[in-house]
Amino acid sequence: MSLKRDVLTINEADYGIQASRIFSLVLLCINAVFVSYFFYQEYYYIVLMDIIFIAIFITLYTLSFTVYAHLIKELLMVLSLLQILLLSVVFIGSDSGMHLYTIGMIPATYIFVSRRQIWPRIRMAVLCTLGLVFAETQTIFSPIYTVPAPELMVIKTTVIISLCSIVFGSFLLFFNYIKATNMQLRCLSEMDELTQVANRRAFLTQLKSDKLNSTEHCILLLDIDHFKLINDQFGHACGDEVLKHISTLMRSFCEPRDKVARLGGEEFALFLHATTIETAHTRAEQLCRKIEITPTKTLITPKPIFCTVSIGVSRFTQDVKTSLSNADKAMYLAKMQGRNQVVCFT
Ligand code: GH3
Ligand code: MG
Ligand code: MG
Repeated sequence: MSLKRDVLTINEADYGIQASRIFSLVLLCINAVFVSYFFYQEYYYIVLMDIIFIAIFITLYTLSFTVYAHLIKELLMVLSLLQILLLSVVFIGSDSGMHLYTIGMIPATYIFVSRRQIWPRIRMAVLCTLGLVFAETQTIFSPIYTVPAPELMVIKTTVIISLCSIVFGSFLLFFNYIKATNMQLRCLSEMDELTQVANRRAFLTQLKSDKLNSTEHCILLLDIDHFKLINDQFGHACGDEVLKHISTLMRSFCEPRDKVARLGGEEFALFLHATTIETAHTRAEQLCRKIEITPTKTLITPKPIFCTVSIGVSRFTQDVKTSLSNADKAMYLAKMQGRNQVVCFT
């Protein structure tokens, strides 16, 4: 079954780290642009402040992946806010629009801080809003540098453009995260966790919805012989390894449009696309022999575990339930006739 298994590797932690890395890089670039600009304008106090902050950020950012991650991330956000307020209120004044970066801090916090950390997010949102109001309304500080009006305009435009990209980028990242999470959930609901093949529900749904042409298709129902004995003899964990091994063998046996599923317990199904009943019988026989001679090797027990399977084969009709029930009858007959064999439903 064509499940996008790579999606399963995206978990929240990976996503958060990836997103915050991209975000930090963007913020660092914006910082670098402004530092160069202020250096060019000979506003050396600002350059000094920015360099100190960048050094602190890089140190804390590196630490944030090791110890006290949440605390350090929150501290990083508070420091960013402080930097913005110092720059806009103390150095060049709110007319520069620098204080508007406090708005961009809110979505940035949502990306930096893990989804489970609700309070740090709320705290930062409140602090950023207070910072914005303070910068807009305060009369205590008058700016150290008097930036000429045309340059203020350039700074303001740059701030607004970069702010829009931060907000837009945050939405994009958030949207992608929701999309990836949905795909991950869909995969989890359609896949058997142990064997990593489709589960019964996904298998039946896909067969029902597939637009199959009039070519002959077949279905195989496979049940491991005396599986209970394997569990009893080697333990449940080894039984699990056998299930994984059988599913791997079945997957390796598939053509591109075939589908494997674990229907439950030690019972598997294989849909053979565009296959006649004669070919299906031959292929089932090959699979049966392959399983018989290929033991499961595990680290749990030194002995390789040999097992056999009984397979029922039937033609596939659009009535999925009848097809499976026919294959089940054939499989039952294979059990009755001594197991480790293939029986076709005729
Ligand atoms: P038969 O040849 O008639 O099929 O005999 P059997 O022992 O294979 O069949 P039975 O239905 O008596 O037992 C199936 C066993 O499969 C019982 C159950 O504990 C075991 N089983 C079901 N699901 C799992 C699983 O996920 N892991 C393991 N290890 N065992 C499982
Ligand atoms: Mg069995
Ligand atoms: Mg069974």
